[in-house]
Amino acid sequence: MKAEAYMKRGEQVLLHTYNRTPVVFDRGEGVYLYDVDGKKYLDFAAGIAVVGLGYGNPEFEDALKNQVEKLTHTSNLYYNFPAIEAAEKLVKASGMDRVFFTNSGTEAIEGAIKTARKYAAKKDKTKDHEIIAMDHSFHGRSMGSLSVTGNPHYQEDFKPLLSGIHFAEYNNLESVVSLVNEKTCAILLEPIQGEGGIYPADPEFLQGVRKLCDEKDILLIFDEIQCGMGRSGKMFACQRAGVKPDVMAVAKALGNGLPIGAFLTTEKAAVLAPGDHGTTYGGNPLVCAGASAVLDIFEKEHILENVNRVGAYLWEKLKEFKEKYPKIRAHRGVGLIQGLEFEEAPGKIAAAAMRKGVILITAEHNVLRFVPPLIIKEAHVDEMIRALEAAIEEA
Ligand SMILES: *Cc1c(COP(=O)(O)O)cnc(C)c1O
Repeated sequence: MKAEAYMKRGEQVLLHTYNRTPVVFDRGEGVYLYDVDGKKYLDFAAGIAVVGLGYGNPEFEDALKNQVEKLTHTSNLYYNFPAIEAAEKLVKASGMDRVFFTNSGTEAIEGAIKTARKYAAKKDKTKDHEIIAMDHSFHGRSMGSLSVTGNPHYQEDFKPLLSGIHFAEYNNLESVVSLVNEKTCAILLEPIQGEGGIYPADPEFLQGVRKLCDEKDILLIFDEIQCGMGRSGKMFACQRAGVKPDVMAVAKALGNGLPIGAFLTTEKAAVLAPGDHGTTYGGNPLVCAGASAVLDIFEKEHILENVNRVGAYLWEKLKEFKEKYPKIRAHRGVGLIQGLEFEEAPGKIAAAAMRKGVILITAEHNVLRFVPPLIIKEAHVDEMIRALEAAIEEA
């Protein structure tokens, strides 16, 4: 057992910020992962909704190999064309106007927050602007993102956080309206809440918030980090409601595993100017060559069609499941971001599925989350369902 030895070494040198599942992965192929002892796993987690194209996509890998041999870093003091190409493709896919590349999701949120603060400061010359975010949201772990994350459990030991943040009830427009005042500079939300337990926004809620922001000249920020990049069956989940934000944060599946995120703005919200914001690595040629290839592959391999077809199939299978097991309280989601809410925390079920060779993760405390690679097929859904059934019986 090679894994035991690695895990022991890891526990000695890695900061213990995760209670990791006892497995050491070695390589991937399509929608399967293999651990260092050769055991095969069907991956229904995709590295937390990241590896949309699965493992070993030849076009993605070739783009990276070519770029590694040419140039990996120059800094943002100069132009690099993989970044320009990736930005053009993102602009086209999102309908937004401008792109700032980051290294992670949380940095994309930081940029969005700074954009909102600057937009409001330019307008009224004051500096005490407020942001409305949502209960049960998740936006990242850096101090700004943590401040707008509606989960006190993550925040408690790290106070003081940003001031002027208020939390509204998700999918409740009245609750948002009641928090708006002349100091509000942004409303921030996930079009589908991921970590919070897979809650899609009602289209009317998104449309209502859009109208409110237009009336009050408040920036609307959508966090599409988990639900974007095709997972909902549209390129971005807000497109399901026909609503465009002023600022959009993306990451996770954008780089298919490379550390890249971005915040996108409309021309109106493109207020950050030279000196206002920066990053050393963000948008370097290597990660941008990868993201650029990802966006091409989405079109060439008809990824959205696959998500819609297999997502509908997964929906039917999980629906049957919910009817069969009374301890499943709810089934939510869309496309390839779905969840089953259990009466009790489903950690034991996920662990049993893992032993049977299927990787599943949880969300909130009682939701089993299904966020597989976007290239998954119906037969893989059947394989997962068989293992889940056995795992539920066992646990
Ligand atoms: C994962 C996630 C983040 C944070 O992204 P990191 O890359 O971990 O910083 C922010 N928002 C949402 C919705 C996420 O799912």
